[in-house]
Amino acid sequence: MDIKIDLLKCTGCGTCTYLCPVGVLSVVDTKCQVQEGCISCGNCVEICSFKAITVGDPIMKKRTGKKRAH
Ligand code: SF4
Ligand code: SF4
Repeated sequence: MDIKIDLLKCTGCGTCTYLCPVGVLSVVDTKCQVQEGCISCGNCVEICSFKAITVGDPIMKKRTGKKRAH
């Protein structure tokens, strides 16, 4: 599992749970939780309006980052 969920930012909206291709996200007690099996696709990182999810993998950080090095 390579993502981190900031529980202070997560509102439990549930949007990310529909976008996960492997179905490892779920909302429990108004907070999102991730189970084993995340493939680090980045869907949830991009869809979360509250920026509550981040990916630990450096490649994904690059992909989801706003600035590009030139
Ligand atoms: S989309 Fe963001 S705020 Fe909504 S449940 Fe997922 S992590 Fe929480
Ligand atoms: S990075 Fe992809 S596989 Fe992992 S929890 Fe998010 S949506 Fe699911």
